[in-house]
Amino acid sequence: MTRTAYASVDLGGTRLKALVGRDGPEVLASRSIETEAAGGPEHVLDRIARLVEGLAAEAGETIGGLAVGCPGLVDRMGGVVRFLPNLPGQWRDVPVGALLGSRLGLPVHLLNDVRMATLGELAYGHGRRCREAGTEAPTLVLLALGTGVGGGVVVDGKLRLGAAGAAGEIGHVNVEPEGLPCSCGSRGCLETVISGPALAGEALRLLRSGRAPLLRESLAGDEGLVDAERIAQAAARGDADAHALIVRASRFLGIVVADLVTTLAPDVVLLAGGVSGIGAPLLDTVRATVRERVAMVPLETVEIALSELGENAGVLGGLALALRGGRV
Ligand SMILES: [Zn+2]
Repeated sequence: MTRTAYASVDLGGTRLKALVGRDGPEVLASRSIETEAAGGPEHVLDRIARLVEGLAAEAGETIGGLAVGCPGLVDRMGGVVRFLPNLPGQWRDVPVGALLGSRLGLPVHLLNDVRMATLGELAYGHGRRCREAGTEAPTLVLLALGTGVGGGVVVDGKLRLGAAGAAGEIGHVNVEPEGLPCSCGSRGCLETVISGPALAGEALRLLRSGRAPLLRESLAGDEGLVDAERIAQAAARGDADAHALIVRASRFLGIVVADLVTTLAPDVVLLAGGVSGIGAPLLDTVRATVRERVAMVPLETVEIALSELGENAGVLGGLALALRGGRV
């Protein structure tokens, strides 16, 4: 008996990642290409369609369905992208499901990209390890720390999407009542302290007041190079200011994780995205803050870890979504 193959696309501002595969996960073909987002929705959808057709041909398979992870707000039932804040033109009310569905002759399922990555971890990453260890329906939270901060929440084995599919926007819980303005229109959100641009902004502030000497040295005069990776490298080489910057931001993250632990008593809290690559100073601070702040949940049952599937969590989550016929 042949098992049906499915396609998955993770639509990012700069890259389109795609695969064709079967449950397992068994990846039959995969590729990552430039999004060319400046070309607008019609151009990007044409690239997605060609990419899926190419991968299906390469795998030699007929595809049973396609899932697309989108970096913003989607209407899952209507198959419509409502708003992608970081893509040119913002993709307001684009009927992606209908356009791709008629072009490819497939059912097309949409989901927010971080929720799709959370589904990937549930199906094929830490969630699977929980099930293997005897927890049939794990509770899992994923925080994606990148240009923005996204989230996904699984309770008792089920991805929870809430009203309008908007549940899980953990990057926009408040951590500083009078903090910096946020991309969402509010202020002082978690995203304003722990996203890549937030860390870079804080590092620039330090550099301009003559601090963070090892970070300065690594930039060789080009402040535009400041990013989370360089800040982490400077901290690892002994730059106390860079280290303190990471610890301060990570404490805010730790407080939010502590609140999530108290609220949901999760089996696993996963940190993903480029900023999570900072590694030990971030992860250790988050774990220490959770130990300090959580009194109502037995912490020996709560794992706080880096994402296992990394950059592939999204496309693998899409595979899981497509083979479930769009049910989360
Ligand atoms: Zn916000």
